[in-house]
Amino acid sequence: MLEGKKAIITGGTRGIGYAIAARFIEEGAVVTVFGSRQETADKAVEQLLATYPEAKVWGRTCDLTDLDAVTEAFRAAAEDMGGVDTIVNNAGISQSTPLLDYTADDWKKIMDLNVTAVFNGCRAGAQLMIEAGHGGTITTTSSMVSKYGQPSGCGYPTSKYAVNGLTQSLSRELAPKGIRVNAVAPGITKTDMVAALPEKMIQPLIATIPLGRIGEPEDVANAFVYLASEMSSYVTGAVIPVDGAARS
Ligand code: NAD
Repeated sequence: MLEGKKAIITGGTRGIGYAIAARFIEEGAVVTVFGSRQETADKAVEQLLATYPEAKVWGRTCDLTDLDAVTEAFRAAAEDMGGVDTIVNNAGISQSTPLLDYTADDWKKIMDLNVTAVFNGCRAGAQLMIEAGHGGTITTTSSMVSKYGQPSGCGYPTSKYAVNGLTQSLSRELAPKGIRVNAVAPGITKTDMVAALPEKMIQPLIATIPLGRIGEPEDVANAFVYLASEMSSYVTGAVIPVDGAARS
């Protein structure tokens, strides 16, 4: 589905982002994964090449919260790959801090990575696509909490509501350039953090999910494959839930 497409994936070193990188490679894409450190990016590349020896994959790092750094690093990644067709803004952190325990720094930290870095990725990626004179896709990892909020840690849902707003606005602004902009909103997904939870915490979580299980990173990655492919050629401005119909 992605034969020859060139993809940049932020937060591609583990969890959902790593699954997206793996599924993109399986579908024929050339990939650059960005990690928070060069060592973790290199390790992810090593792991991907161990599974897919024929893959064309690079690993990079930069400060995603700095527009100039992202612009420069995305340009370098596009030079390695021979262009860029698809951006995945996946790097993100969550918070569960109660309101009165929040510090100004906590708030800034989550807005910087979950919102500003996504804006930076959209801007740097769109610039490369527009300069190259072709369209492309930009897909961001939102969350089901961008529909329902969450009972503690208000910064996290706020950041994901912002992701949806950015996605819907840019889908309209960039459509005339042939760039489709979408988001995927996962429910609880079995990344390292969730997999490490004790069974007595997992079971009550599962009880709230009509499909009766926690999502796998590959469930989420498949939505990214669809949105980066021609199969979704008339889909833009969408926020696609991948949450087993969980509603809390
Ligand atoms: P994870 O912690 O396993 O992976 C996060 C990725 O982001 C890593 O590759 C890490 O290197 C990168 N990252 C973290 N901080 C960074 C920084 N300061 N600079 C650059 N990169 C940084 O998390 P995950 O669960 O795979 O989450 C990925 C995305 O999915 C996030 O945007 C998260 O909000 C979203 N999400 C996750 C779940 C879930 O249940 N796991 C549910 C909904 C949405």
